[in-house]
Amino acid sequence: RAKDALTETVCFYEVSMDEAARSRRLIANDLWQAVERRELQLHYQVQKAVNSGETLGYEVLLRWHHPVRGTIPPSEFIPIAEACGAILPIGEWVLREACREAATWGNDYKIAVNLSPVQLGNADVADLVHRVLLETGLSPRRLELEITESTIIGDKERALNTLRRIKAFGVTIAIDDFGTGYSSLETLRAFPFDKIKLDRSFMSEVEASPEAKAIIRAILALGQTLRVPVLAEGVETRSQLDILLDEGCDEAQGYFLGRPVPVERIRVDTEKSEAA
Ligand code: C2E
Ligand code: MG
Ligand code: MG
Ligand code: MG
Repeated sequence: RAKDALTETVCFYEVSMDEAARSRRLIANDLWQAVERRELQLHYQVQKAVNSGETLGYEVLLRWHHPVRGTIPPSEFIPIAEACGAILPIGEWVLREACREAATWGNDYKIAVNLSPVQLGNADVADLVHRVLLETGLSPRRLELEITESTIIGDKERALNTLRRIKAFGVTIAIDDFGTGYSSLETLRAFPFDKIKLDRSFMSEVEASPEAKAIIRAILALGQTLRVPVLAEGVETRSQLDILLDEGCDEAQGYFLGRPVPVERIRVDTEKSEAA
């Protein structure tokens, strides 16, 4: 009996593993064509100054509308795109699209683009950034690249060199999801970054957990000492924003301030500032 149950479990496990692998392969196949088929779309999420409420810029978040599977979230397809290499053409498309869009805005809002570790490990990414800035005419100081700490765990020297080249154009670098990686403090010491993005897990716990609040305080102090602004991710409520105001956090992003939306839905905002 027990043995039967075990066999069954093992078989089920294998079948579902097979399914998962099959599904990953199918997704990888489709991903290579997603750009050409115009299935990718950018959403924009506002980033604001905590004390003034002023809009500072937008983070660009990728959406994939698969013709059969519907909308697939980035948490599902980005890892597959990284594993199969499709992240390179996709990442290039995201960068070019985002810069082209932001260059049409009559304001100085920043545009923050996520950069995959795979892109950073690719020697040509600095050239790509340079080329896209020239092509689109976007001022380099309006472009921010978001990288996670895991990016830096690979070939450190190489990543550092690439980041230095990119920074030399005037582009800024933000550390994304800070506080969840392995080597936070080491990363801060070694990397030429311009902003810390505090992972949203701290925000979701700030009211219930004194520890989360203490960590936020410590990171804000660190930011102050290093003279680097801190942005809190995942702000979902008024009271979370109030805490950030109390604690002296510089910037915030989250559903309370604005959900990621297609560019048409932020146009009002950008035109308003154009007229001003
Ligand atoms: P991320 O860069 O940390 O982006 C923030 C994520 O948090 C986004 O998820 C956003 O929709 C979500 N978010 C924003 N505000 C809130 C909030 O108040 N509450 C909650 N619960 N979530 C919030 P999304 O769009 O699903 O993207 C997930 C991740 O996928 C991103 O995390 C980023 O690592 C990656 N990603 C997205 N677009 C790109 C891209 O163009 N290139 C690369 N390489 N990665 C991307
Ligand atoms: Mg990000
Ligand atoms: Mg993040
Ligand atoms: Mg994230």
